[in-house]
Amino acid sequence: MSTDAPRTIPVQRAFDDDHPVAPWQERIRISAFVPFSTVDWPGSAAAVVFLQGCPWRCGYCQNPQLQARIDPPSTSWQAIEGTLRQRTNWLDSVVFSGGEPTTDRALPDAVRAVMDMGYRTGLHTGGAYPERLAGLLPLLDWVGFDIKADAAHYDSITGAPGSALRAMRSARLLLASGVACEFRMTYHSALLSELAVLRAADLLATLGVRRFVLQEFRPEGVTNALAPHTGISERLLRELDTRFPLFGVRRADGNPGCGQISGR
Ligand code: SF4
Repeated sequence: MSTDAPRTIPVQRAFDDDHPVAPWQERIRISAFVPFSTVDWPGSAAAVVFLQGCPWRCGYCQNPQLQARIDPPSTSWQAIEGTLRQRTNWLDSVVFSGGEPTTDRALPDAVRAVMDMGYRTGLHTGGAYPERLAGLLPLLDWVGFDIKADAAHYDSITGAPGSALRAMRSARLLLASGVACEFRMTYHSALLSELAVLRAADLLATLGVRRFVLQEFRPEGVTNALAPHTGISERLLRELDTRFPLFGVRRADGNPGCGQISGR
């Protein structure tokens, strides 16, 4: 067979991570695009790009359909870029979310593309890929970092051996970078004790985290059968408030205190 024969890329193969031929705009696996949000980057008017894929399997995951990278992209990068170019007067940032968006090897190219349009760049991550996060940090203006648990309970929350080490490496890289950030933890009373939350908070405070938000478990989208969540005690909130200069709670019902940060 001639080695000069042209290569053709079957449609599905064009989206494979390791395919060396398809341009990144065709490899990126977009699950959804939200053209305007004020909650995904607190204080910023953002568009949000949701990417497929996550190596972890948290029991309380609200987007389990994003864990596997098997669905065709819901929209094209070209369509998103067209919308973003029309909205530069309305938006000031683009946030990449998931899933775990660093799963997608096209992410750095997409971040550079929105930078070139003049947008500030944000990322939601759990830190599953510290090496990829290290390469992204110079491109980012803000990171929302999802911390899952204290070290002893990390793997039981994520269902992934070694996840605590990866998350802590990523957290340290983020804090050393100086990129603005918010650390947040989803709390389900049957999955994590209040003592475990405080142990995680103590470690974060020691590392220098300034802004921490406790997010109450919300059942929307969750497909696993979980024991009932019984709420957050006032004692836990008081204890957390002593550990961070900026602390807030996002309640499951959205009130009161959703998105509110109390500073000291
Ligand atoms: S890290 Fe996030 S996207 Fe991945 S399984 Fe956990 S909650 Fe779901």
